[in-house]
Parts: sequence; structure tokens; C-alpha cells
Amino acid sequence: MSYVITIDGPAGAGKSSAAKDTAEKLGINYLDTGAIYRAIALILSQSEVKPIDDEIMREALSDIQIELRGKAVLVNGFDVTGEIRTPEVDELASVYSAVPSVRKALLALQKEQENHGSIVAEGRDVGSVVFPNAKVKFFITASPEARAERRYKERISKGRPADYDAILKAIIERDRNDSSREVSPLTVPEGAVYLDTSDMTEEETVQFILNKVKEALPYETQTK
Ligand code: C5P
Repeated sequence: MSYVITIDGPAGAGKSSAAKDTAEKLGINYLDTGAIYRAIALILSQSEVKPIDDEIMREALSDIQIELRGKAVLVNGFDVTGEIRTPEVDELASVYSAVPSVRKALLALQKEQENHGSIVAEGRDVGSVVFPNAKVKFFITASPEARAERRYKERISKGRPADYDAILKAIIERDRNDSSREVSPLTVPEGAVYLDTSDMTEEETVQFILNKVKEALPYETQTK
């Protein structure tokens, strides 16, 4: 019997690593919905479609095919996996994802992932809108400072330029965009387990999630 676990929360709360690790430990699929929003934002901005005219956007969206292939994201057959992880695309995704026609166009693709087996889905509205019937839901957050600190260290460890104050400012701005938009704002889904990871390590976060999932789904998560 397949099942869905959702993890929502703001940027840098530790969702991605927690969702990836949880999926791996449970031996199920991982769905990164942010990657889908990033890919669509990248292609729309490259095509110079401004996020203001819903009608023009709808037309442009009908010509775009997004495909998930394992960890890769393809747009009209082109792999954009590497290109979507930049601060510019952070910003673009936050702006384009607020447009109703964009959210509508991407909903079916996200929902459809459930047909390929059990998943841990990660995003901003996966527990509230995409998979409202998920078996276990989490909302993971952390203070803006803790999140900025993590992003800063992550960039430094990858040898990329990093400015803590600029990262903190961008995080606060993205939180504001994601929480204040009219369609599917970032909210704590009904029935979600709320977790503040400001003082938790990645391992502690994953362990907490795994314990909750195993408690809620003792049969589904039994190892053979
Ligand atoms: O999670 P990630 O940082 O990759 O997401 C990039 C942006 O995509 C978010 O800031 C948010 O604006 C948007 N997003 C969304 N709904 C989701 C996932 C991401 O609006 N389910």
C-alpha cells in the first residue's frame, strides 16, 4: 500500500536534506516540488514572459513540458538540474510561483507522482493543496538567522561567494513573498507536525521525522 509524507516549510529550514534522507531511509521516492517551480521560472524568464499577464503566461505554459527523471528536471527535453540552483533562480521561483496560472499548470504533474509509489514530498503547499490526504504531514521551520547561517555555510563549503547579510535579507524577502501570495501561501497544513529546527542538527531532524512516521505507519514502514 503506497503512502505520501509531506514536508512543508520556508527556505533553508532543512526540508530538502530531511526529505531526501527520510525517503532514502524508508526506501521510497523523493519529490522536490521547488525544483519544478524553479525550472518553470527559469524558462519563463529566459523566454522573457513577464510574471504579470496571466493570459500570456497561460499561452506560454501550454508550450512547456516539465519532466522529472530521477533527480533530474527536464524542460522541453533539456536538463536544467544544474542551472536552477542559483540565487537568481531562488528569486525568480518565488516571484513566478505566486502567479495563479503557474500553480495551476504544475499541480497535475505534482499529484501524478503519487502513482509511481510512496513518496516524501517537499515544498510550500504539498500538505495543504497537492496532497491534502497525505498520511503524515510535517511543517519544518527555523529562525531566519539560523536559516541564513546554514545557507552561508553551504555556499562557503561549495567554494561559492557568500554574504551573510545579503542571504538573510533574501530569506526574509522570500518568506514574505511565499507567505503573502493569494494562491497557496506558505501555511502550516491542518494536522501537520510542527518542528522548529533552529537548534537541531540534520541528523536529529531526520530521526525525529522517521520516529513520527514509523509511529503513524507501523505496518507500511516495516522492513522486510
Ligand atoms: O524549495 P525551493 O527553495 O527550491 O523553492 C523555490 C521557490 O519555489 C520557493 O521560494 C517558492 O516560492 C516556490 N515553491 C512554491 N511551492 C512549492 C515549492 C516551491 O511556491 N510547493
